[in-house]
Amino acid sequence: MERALVTGGAGFIGSYLCEHLLNQGNEVICLDNFFTGNKRNILHLMDNHRFELIRHDITQPILLEVDRIYHFACPASPIHYQYNPVKTIKTNVMGTINMLGLAKRVKARIMLASTSEVYGNPQVHPQPESYWGNVNPIGPRSCYDEGKRVAETLMMDYYRQSKVDIKIIRIFNTYGPRMAINDGRVVSNFILQALRNQDITVYGDGSQTRSFCYIDDLVDGIFKMMDADDFIGPVNLGNPQEFTILELAEKIIDLTGSRSKIKFLPLPEDDPVQRQPDITLAREKLGWEPRVQIDEGLVSTIQYFEKVLSEEDR
Ligand code: NAD
Ligand code: UDP
Repeated sequence: MERALVTGGAGFIGSYLCEHLLNQGNEVICLDNFFTGNKRNILHLMDNHRFELIRHDITQPILLEVDRIYHFACPASPIHYQYNPVKTIKTNVMGTINMLGLAKRVKARIMLASTSEVYGNPQVHPQPESYWGNVNPIGPRSCYDEGKRVAETLMMDYYRQSKVDIKIIRIFNTYGPRMAINDGRVVSNFILQALRNQDITVYGDGSQTRSFCYIDDLVDGIFKMMDADDFIGPVNLGNPQEFTILELAEKIIDLTGSRSKIKFLPLPEDDPVQRQPDITLAREKLGWEPRVQIDEGLVSTIQYFEKVLSEEDR
């Protein structure tokens, strides 16, 4: 048994980590400021005597005794991380320093949830971990992209300077049940629009691509990485199956049987043109690859949002 700290534990991905850790018999401290997180995601864990919830902002230091830290606190959707960009940078820089300081003091293993956004608008395709990226340092996405890049740098410097036991994962677009209804990312937006028979909002001409990983596959990769000895990463975790955004819109209309029509809206500034993970390293070092096909993952996500909407109507 270990005592785990999950920062951002009330968020989409963090809530799955809390759940899995409890199922494995561990003690879990979930730390969240509820900026984008929701109690609904962890309500089913509250009765467990091994679960503890702390409302706390990671830009402030905190003293805890833990064995492993899953550092996931940070808004992940562009509309949320751009809402207060300075706060996003503080969360990534000061928050990561605080968590690394904690890891150093108690000799905990710490994992950083980094992102495919460190590759920016990539000129190498698909993206291997060795690619340094093509990031605009002064654009609207920089608070997140550069924030995560500095967070990675901090992890590496604490590792080299203080021998902190670190893990870096670069997560590519992940979707599934428990994404917030106001999340604003493409999968939840399109599903909600389709279920409400509203226009599907495709930004640009929809020819930009993303590769979508189902949450269960990601969680599997996260724990394989956390348990791996002698491998600090960074490692890409994502599904290499790549789709245009227009293909995704059509697929979701199909799967929901919706009457929605596609509406084209302006492409946001610095929106990456293409994205696909090279997962050779994850396959070699972790024996990991995603298993859930897009249709299967979308159907269970659609079912989740159908339930959320029906509860809202009541
Ligand atoms: P999310 O927005 O659902 O969860 C983030 C959680 O962090 C929320 O519960 C939020 O309230 C909390 N939080 C934010 N700032 C905080 C602060 N200062 N102090 C304490 N808590 C704070 O997002 P998610 O999709 O679950 O993403 C989790 C992590 O994974 C993030 O670090 C994100 O950058 C990374 N990531 C996610 C994806 C993806 O596709 N979902 C892709 C790449 C990276
Ligand atoms: N997108 C879209 N309509 C939406 C939301 C997003 O066309 O309602 C596009 C967005 O411009 C981007 C892609 O879908 O090209 C993925 O966007 P998301 O915000 O999900 O993630 P990210 O851009 O961070 O990969």
